[in-house]
Amino acid sequence: MKKYLFLLFIAITSVGAIPKTSVTPKLIVLISVDQMRGDYIERFKSQMPFVYQELYNGGLNYVNTHHFHAKTTTAGGHATLATGCLPSTHGIVDNNVYVRATRKTEYSILDTSISFLGVDRCSLQKVSAAKLQKSSIGDYIKMKDPLSKSYSVALKDRSSILMGGHLANRAYWFDGQSTQMVSTNYYAEPFPEWVTAFRADQLYASEIETGWLLNSSIPTVHNPLLDHDSATYECGTFQPWFPHTLKSIESVKEGENKIGTFMWNTPYGDEFVLKFAEQLIIKNQLGSDEHTDVLTISLSAADVIGHQFGPNSVEIVDYYTRLDHYLKVFITMLNQKIGKDNYVLALTADHGVVPMPEFSSLTDKAVRVESEQFDNDMLGIDQSLKQLFNLTESTFLEKSYEGVEPNFELLTAHHIDSFIYLDALKERLKKLSYVDQAYTPEDFIHSTNNENYKQQFKNSYDPRFGYYVQLLCTPLSLVDMRSCGTTHGTPYSYDTHVPFILYSPFIKPMKVKTSVKTIDIAPTLLGLADIDITKKVDGRNLLR
Ligand SMILES: [Zn+2]
Repeated sequence: MKKYLFLLFIAITSVGAIPKTSVTPKLIVLISVDQMRGDYIERFKSQMPFVYQELYNGGLNYVNTHHFHAKTTTAGGHATLATGCLPSTHGIVDNNVYVRATRKTEYSILDTSISFLGVDRCSLQKVSAAKLQKSSIGDYIKMKDPLSKSYSVALKDRSSILMGGHLANRAYWFDGQSTQMVSTNYYAEPFPEWVTAFRADQLYASEIETGWLLNSSIPTVHNPLLDHDSATYECGTFQPWFPHTLKSIESVKEGENKIGTFMWNTPYGDEFVLKFAEQLIIKNQLGSDEHTDVLTISLSAADVIGHQFGPNSVEIVDYYTRLDHYLKVFITMLNQKIGKDNYVLALTADHGVVPMPEFSSLTDKAVRVESEQFDNDMLGIDQSLKQLFNLTESTFLEKSYEGVEPNFELLTAHHIDSFIYLDALKERLKKLSYVDQAYTPEDFIHSTNNENYKQQFKNSYDPRFGYYVQLLCTPLSLVDMRSCGTTHGTPYSYDTHVPFILYSPFIKPMKVKTSVKTIDIAPTLLGLADIDITKKVDGRNLLR
């Protein structure tokens, strides 16, 4: 017997005509594809026929969804997706943060008090959700109904941990040494034996032997959207051309072995995560009763591959061709095991990515400023300030593409007015051809409109963390980078624009073009389970 009541009617809301439902799903699945830019599904529709037809056209598709913070990186992005709050509220403003009190940069989820489970020896960093200041989707579900279950899974620790939140039964992530999923004693539930046996080196023995081969159906010749497979600005773990095999691995991260590195750097890593998620559903009987369960998944190989080869590489096209198949298999499994009527799935991402400047011909501002040049420019500015204020020591404690941390103690010791110094510093930074703005918190903290991205900087600001002077580099530029690869982390639309699709047979397919924010995802998903968190978070329920 169907035990759900669906009140399907059209509510005229600020985002247009949205079908409103009162759904109580047995399982909520939130999938984040790390670095999946908002334009990708439309762009790769030939390579992604399942996702394009079934989700993009068959779901409630918010095509104009953006993160509303400036530092568009993985930790802050996933914490935002899970909590419905801005980084300035949930406290995870970046992957690594400069801690002002200690003057040290540390991993934003570092927690030395935890112990790893599942492996005897593990060189992974000790991490937990302790520093996340807000509750996750799974936390709210479990606070309402303690018999509900919440699990999280990803290759990356920060993605899994921050999506899982505080009350998850368990969050799992990948250890590149044992090639299995691991977890910690932060979670109360016993560590299950089956996890230790679920190893990538065994499950992917034949793929590891053959390597990652280019899908033969991908048209690589005379395709204006694609760069050459061996473009000089591609680089990373492998030699930058197909096939990507164990032999073509050029560098292995500390604590990983070659097989672990292979999984991190090929689509198979994300397929492994989805297969692991399937096992989690089966072993823990997720979605099997009236207590709504939550499963969050982040597919991190997408990001690792994107950083190395860029959004216009044949590797990225090949990745999304394969992802289409992986998601088809996963959703078919959900339909069979949970039942199409019993779950709701959301697809989104933690951030986008900038094209390789060498490939981008849109503007002459698309420049790559390598770290050596950046360091020289910063040295020049520091010299000029030393001269201006009659100092012999450096006026900088730290500097990077993110900005500059001035040596305030030195300024005080020499009775230099810090405001005069900061004005002189900002003026010099803004003269660099690749810098648009240089901000101190006073410039954006009271901002009520988003002129020059000030509100997004405010939304990424936490007084405990970050350099005092922050940089907004010119659009499409890559600053303080090595000679190859690309990244994200700016308030520009290529970094903020992500997909957001709600998929359930009870949600009418529709494309919504009105602008919405990623902080709206958690309250909207929880609204489907009759939990109203809108007064506790920065986002809103889009279906109300
Ligand atoms: Zn990411």
